[in-house]
Amino acid sequence: MRLTTLLDTMDHSGSGPWPTDSTATTDDRQQFDRMVADLIPCRSNDPELWFAERQADVERAKALCQTCPLIEGCLAGAVERAEPWGVWGGQVFVGGVVVPTKRGRGRPRKVAAA
Ligand code: SF4
Repeated sequence: MRLTTLLDTMDHSGSGPWPTDSTATTDDRQQFDRMVADLIPCRSNDPELWFAERQADVERAKALCQTCPLIEGCLAGAVERAEPWGVWGGQVFVGGVVVPTKRGRGRPRKVAAA
């Protein structure tokens, strides 16, 4: 489900639709920001997971991304920006490209460098 669709279906504390920008108070905006943050795993969990070295942490970040309503746009943006590293849109980026898994630090190359 797209985030905008999801947000459109939510009521503002059960008392009607979200106020428009002109009528929204600071509390409304803060509540809205908190609600959005709760829906986005990399905002509601330790963000270091998305840049972790341990494979288990990387896999956890990838799994959490699968529940994110922004996954498609996040991945497209990361590809477009050629993110240098981290987990974006449920994929691992290294050197600006998607790789199947992140290699552990200090692990020797399978093929000797020329
Ligand atoms: S898909 Fe993107 S925005 Fe969503 S949790 Fe993963 S990294 Fe964060």
